[in-house]
Amino acid sequence: MTASGPTEVHVSGFTPEVEAATAPVWEKVRRHVTPMEWRLQAPLIHAINQLKRERRAVILAHNYMTPDIFHGVGDYVGDSLGLAREAARADADVIVQAGVHFMAETSKILSPEKKILIPDLRAGCSLAASITADDVRLMRQRYPGLPVVTYVNTSAEVKAETDICCTSANAVQVVEHAAREWGVDRVILIPDEFLARNVARQTSVGIIAWRGRCEVHEQFTVEDIREIREAHPGAEILAHPECPAEVLAEADFAGSTAAMNDYVLTRRPRQVVLITECSMADNVAADAVDTEFVRPCNLCPHMKQITLENILQALVEDRHEVTVDPIVAGRARTAVQRMIDMPPPSSPARYDLVRARHHVDVELI
Ligand code: SF4
Repeated sequence: MTASGPTEVHVSGFTPEVEAATAPVWEKVRRHVTPMEWRLQAPLIHAINQLKRERRAVILAHNYMTPDIFHGVGDYVGDSLGLAREAARADADVIVQAGVHFMAETSKILSPEKKILIPDLRAGCSLAASITADDVRLMRQRYPGLPVVTYVNTSAEVKAETDICCTSANAVQVVEHAAREWGVDRVILIPDEFLARNVARQTSVGIIAWRGRCEVHEQFTVEDIREIREAHPGAEILAHPECPAEVLAEADFAGSTAAMNDYVLTRRPRQVVLITECSMADNVAADAVDTEFVRPCNLCPHMKQITLENILQALVEDRHEVTVDPIVAGRARTAVQRMIDMPPPSSPARYDLVRARHHVDVELI
């Protein structure tokens, strides 16, 4: 295959050179990729990695990318918070965001001088789509004086109306910090209703929430968890805080994707269930070969828009460049930077499951 544009690139077949160069990746993905698929993927991985060097480009790959992308071409991999930090310090001219659009915008906000590319513009997010900047302004009018804490899964315009951002890894820490700094006992935490409900159970700070949902995590139910327990009595169940609070209450552990990854790699459970997007388990499994992963599979259709083919096209044709209005970016940067400047937790934050089992009301707008 030959792709052309600002940069010419030739993708060879599965040559001995390609096979040798991609052998370490094959070791990581061989449990999830057939030899036939690998003969198609390896040449693309090889071409992308060569092109990255020529273009001084790095690829930021989210934990929900498929293993060929995550292990094959990702220079930095992790959750939203980890990728946001890497975007700011990456020594590169070009960043390809192997993730969804709000992540690419966050990279642009933090690195205005770098070219940020998203391989497919359809890679959106139901949470980001659930709220607008006007909605945030209305909430401010309704609750004057209360700080607005915004999940990073939002547009740049929404971040620009925000006091401080958070991720699922640091939401409790950020909410408590905001309440202290503003001298209040309530904060506005938007737009994920379930994250807000889960955070409310972890803190004495009152929470005002929005009705946004992650279309992947909202599908998990208490019945799912009970059925899994019955079918796999020894399995340890790890749930993401974008799931309903009742799901977290039934789990053995709750935390961000980074916290789940850390849990599996440090505790090495014999059998584990990750209640989150499907590809996460595939990616962790590569480094936890003795752990058996039970897979209740919910795919994020937005994350799955990103493929090796369109990453290569993005690098070849400089598409699709993500831009953010400089005034919006400047205001949004303040909110994101306040989060980044907070001291990182010594280990990925986990949600206290005793607290998670006690209902706490939130004010839902
Ligand atoms: S998994 Fe949920 S929160 Fe993440 S991008 Fe997909 S819809 Fe958005």
